[in-house]
Amino acid sequence: MKESILNPVVDADTFAARHKIDLKPIKCPKCGLEFTPSIPWVSKEWRGIKCEEHECGPEYAAFVVVPADPKVRARRKRFYLEAMKLLGGKK
Ligand SMILES: [Zn+2]
Repeated sequence: MKESILNPVVDADTFAARHKIDLKPIKCPKCGLEFTPSIPWVSKEWRGIKCEEHECGPEYAAFVVVPADPKVRARRKRFYLEAMKLLGGKK
């Protein structure tokens, strides 16, 4: 299946395996509860999975992302941190 913003993929497990995204729970910095990423998310430069929104609002719905280009995936930890900032307040 072709991945695009309009046609966002399969289930989270398949998507995570394909892009080597770690589906570990992410702790919300505000309320301290842990949320498991479950919603595949695609943009031009990123492949990611986000957590569902909860009471703390969309800015606390965490993302895990990797660059869409496999050649730069080795740097994904840095990208992860940058992307968390970039994507933090957006849906
Ligand atoms: Zn929270």
